[in-house]
Amino acid sequence: MSKPRVAIFDFACCEGCQLQIVNMEEELLDLLTHIEPVEWREAMSESSERYDIAIIEGSITRQQDEERLKLIRSRAKVLIALGACATLGGVNKLANGFDDLNEVKKCVYGDAARMPHLLTGQVKAVSEVVPVDYSVHGCPINAEEFGYVIRCLLRGTTPVIPNFPVCVDCKMRESTCRFEYGEICLGPITRAGCGAPCPAAGMWCFGCRGYVDEPNINGARDVMERYRKTVDDLKSRMALFNTGQEQPHA
Ligand code: SF4
Ligand code: SF4
Ligand code: SF4
Repeated sequence: MSKPRVAIFDFACCEGCQLQIVNMEEELLDLLTHIEPVEWREAMSESSERYDIAIIEGSITRQQDEERLKLIRSRAKVLIALGACATLGGVNKLANGFDDLNEVKKCVYGDAARMPHLLTGQVKAVSEVVPVDYSVHGCPINAEEFGYVIRCLLRGTTPVIPNFPVCVDCKMRESTCRFEYGEICLGPITRAGCGAPCPAAGMWCFGCRGYVDEPNINGARDVMERYRKTVDDLKSRMALFNTGQEQPHA
């Protein structure tokens, strides 16, 4: 039986999620016995218009990128959004909060702001342009979760992505809660599955995996009240990765 042909494409992003895949090392070698990469700019020079699974990294920032993405979608049986830039629009979506895109470009790129390939309109997540079959969350992605999603596809099963808050991962890891340090952490409303590395490393959760489907906003409110914070404090932090996402209802 022929192996599924897999192509990885990047749009506006830092390519750090692809790097996570490259860094899978032995696990990647094992995956390569089951799939055939046919296009992957970060790891090979060949390209192809024939693929079964398209993996999309990055957010969509220009009209020509929308057209390119639609073409990719039309060629692929399965499309996976890879990482927060693709699943949410990510940090790039912060630009949507500004009226003047030139101001944003100048702030980020200085004299190089006239480069022709920079954003030209509202930043979009992949699902705002084409249907997405599966999402691998995070900035960067969790490589183990990526491997799990691919293996599920190869087995013909549906990957089960956690739909409970990062606090669960964090408690299982026995990290001290960042609220105890007077900080605001997005763990109560953010999708778990990363293993809560940020609180374990002494940082609050930035919400890079997006909201859980039905955040327990009452539970989050209890936490805020206990530590004398407000739900709005919590929501204001979500802008970094979740600009434009529907906010949990209070
Ligand atoms: S999600 Fe984060 S690590 Fe991945 S490409 Fe975007 S900015 Fe880079
Ligand atoms: S609020 Fe943050 S630090 Fe506290 S338990 Fe939840 S994820 Fe961990
Ligand atoms: S703890 Fe939060 S910010 Fe850190 S990886 Fe997990 S979801 Fe992302």
